[in-house]
Amino acid sequence: MKASKLKQLGIIDSQNVITLAAELCCNADNKVCMYRECMTCKNKSLTSLKNPSETGITWWYQWVTKKEEYEKEIEGEKEKIAVTKTVKQICEGNAQHLFEDLEKDLNGRVCKHLFNIKHQYAQLQSLHRTLRDDEVILHVDYAENWQCKYAKEVQQVHFGASHRQATLHNVVMYTSNNTLSFCTLSPSMKHDPAAIWAQLDPVLQFLKVNYPRVDKLFFISDGPTMQYRGKKNFYLMSIIPFQMGFRTVNWSFLEAGHGKGPADGVGATIKRTADTQVARGSDIPSAKTLYETLRTLTKVHLFYVEDDQISRVSALLPKELPTIKGTLSLHQVICTTPGTIYHRVLSCFCEREGVCGCFQPKAVDLAPQTVGSIEPQIIEGTSGRGPLCPLDEITEDLKGKWCIVIYENDPYPGIIEDVDEGAVEVKVMCSAGQNKFFWPLIEDKIWYTQDNVMTLISPPEKINSRHVQGKCN
Ligand SMILES: [Zn+2]
Ligand SMILES: [Zn+2]
Repeated sequence: MKASKLKQLGIIDSQNVITLAAELCCNADNKVCMYRECMTCKNKSLTSLKNPSETGITWWYQWVTKKEEYEKEIEGEKEKIAVTKTVKQICEGNAQHLFEDLEKDLNGRVCKHLFNIKHQYAQLQSLHRTLRDDEVILHVDYAENWQCKYAKEVQQVHFGASHRQATLHNVVMYTSNNTLSFCTLSPSMKHDPAAIWAQLDPVLQFLKVNYPRVDKLFFISDGPTMQYRGKKNFYLMSIIPFQMGFRTVNWSFLEAGHGKGPADGVGATIKRTADTQVARGSDIPSAKTLYETLRTLTKVHLFYVEDDQISRVSALLPKELPTIKGTLSLHQVICTTPGTIYHRVLSCFCEREGVCGCFQPKAVDLAPQTVGSIEPQIIEGTSGRGPLCPLDEITEDLKGKWCIVIYENDPYPGIIEDVDEGAVEVKVMCSAGQNKFFWPLIEDKIWYTQDNVMTLISPPEKINSRHVQGKCN
């Protein structure tokens, strides 16, 4: 807006910030120049077509951030909430000041920002183009909450304020040869790191089962969403994927202002499908019904996560985590050892196994005490060896024994936790593909009828630090 005023006054030649940035720098594709650290160009001035001090007093628009308080009703009680708002403000001053202000903006923030947008985008494009079959890109984003709806207006009035919402966490997954969409629905209003990882959990499990070769995760999230760019998220990303057997976790942040991401499209599809169902007469009063209504209607892979699954992830967070300097300016976090992260100001993918030295990565130990103790607990099954040992009768002494249950036609090992007439409650492991299993982060414990217990097995033996082997009785 400052630039457009100066252009209007005939002081500068272009109001386009990209053109102006290029004018200030030796090379707009060079980080040192655009970060205004280049000895040759950092003191360079914009060319003025006429002397701005001759123009005198003028006015222009400017964005300013203001704090405002407003009252919000939360569960019947009025509470004061402080919000920051960015508003357009009219400013008055002389043209010389305006000209100097514009230069200050370009040098302080704008050039850097323009470089970051372009660099992050180009890096991620090259990653996508060169993606290998042991790598996957996960572009994550929250959609706006969906307001649960009833088909009939009358009921809507009746349920009034207790109207519930559904949280939609979307993932677009790129494998070396495929693109898949996921949406995890949840009744929880939380959008914090614990919620993020509880909602990512079923997506990562899907990945383990369907793409067992993948062991490197490349997350992408959009810039302004702060829930992803903080120490709690970094801690969880340095712990959870490793428990599942992934070996590298890499998170890149897009700079604000790059436009809408692909995950936005997933949210829009889900909401449109839901609205169509309500218009046809379906009541969707809760996140759970939203899930049940949509699961057969959409190509998006849908998952449902309860509040208590989020609490369980929350419990993994230590009370205190070290502060990470430069959180606001970092654009990439890499983790190859559980508990330790590397972060840097821009993304680079020239080295996929470890951390390359580009853009001075800094290491932070988030959880020194946990290193070494979170080797993934993967067990390897030995199918087809030994006779089957099905359950003849259900007795109390089955508690604590290992068995194989059949769930949706697939076998899973697990431990019997409780027994009842004709059924056992089994805590099962997740498939890591090719006859390998691991304990999921979110406990998977349900009741199985006697005929769904294929056989009892003896407790799996450890064959090395990473794998344990199971044997049939
Ligand atoms: Zn330069
Ligand atoms: Zn590099």
